Amino acid sequence: MSRIAYASPYVPAEWIVAHGLEPYRIQPEGAAPRGPVPPSAGICPYMRSFVNQSATEPHVAGIILTTVCDQMRRGYEFITDRGLPSFCFNVPATWRSESAVQLYVSELERLSRFLVSLGGRQPDTNAIRDAIHECSPSPSTVAGGGQIPLALTGGPRTKLDERLIDLIEETGGHIVLDATESGLLGVPAVFNMKHVDTDPMRALAEAYHSRLPGVSRRPNDDLHTFLAAQVTASQASGVILLRYLWCDLWHAEVPRIRKALPVPLLDIDLDGEDPVPRNRTRIQAFMEGLG
Ligand code: SF4
Repeated sequence: MSRIAYASPYVPAEWIVAHGLEPYRIQPEGAAPRGPVPPSAGICPYMRSFVNQSATEPHVAGIILTTVCDQMRRGYEFITDRGLPSFCFNVPATWRSESAVQLYVSELERLSRFLVSLGGRQPDTNAIRDAIHECSPSPSTVAGGGQIPLALTGGPRTKLDERLIDLIEETGGHIVLDATESGLLGVPAVFNMKHVDTDPMRALAEAYHSRLPGVSRRPNDDLHTFLAAQVTASQASGVILLRYLWCDLWHAEVPRIRKALPVPLLDIDLDGEDPVPRNRTRIQAFMEGLG
């Protein structure tokens, strides 16, 4: 079965499955292989790692990127310059209006034409419904053996960046909440089962677009409210925010998120290299302050 690579939480795996193709949501390794995106300054390391990995892995028939940030748009240009089959999903920034829902649905239809061009089959209503029942996304679970309850938020992370989780555990932390894009912020809302039966494309749009808070949404007050509520419920003593260098979206939100949270926040930037050496001291100091 042909694999369709993507990384964004706004791309419904169910839609790919309904076309008879395999959704392949990549967590990039982190150390980006050579590929379309060069190792230049100013490039988001996550985007580079995702694009280069998906462009060089065997069995990937097509790549889906989204318009949520300028870096991913640039990644799409790098891929198309190489002539690789790719699709740029236009995710509406606004998310509260009926017209935004309709725009998202029309993007699903445009994506469908791309998937069919790669050998997918045109799905009927039953196939979409079946795919929704078949796929059950779940957030990544992270933990640790320490005594200090901590929450994570921020963007996605590569496999290399998972080493920070080990460092947090080593320094006495216990992750009780992962509200990053690799965790809760990457999981669609619960499906409206009434709409799944009557209008499954609308059900997809609601779950993946209308009710999924994120840093790119406008307005994005719900992100702050969501994070504050989740952190309070988790009883975390502190929050570590992970963001990539050159990620303007998360960088701009740090002050507002800090203000919204009921506990201290540590802002960590990731540069695509091993995150442990350059963050060890800061994380240790943060944990000592909480302990
Ligand atoms: S981490 Fe930020 S800059 Fe990088 S791809 Fe995600 S949103 Fe874009």
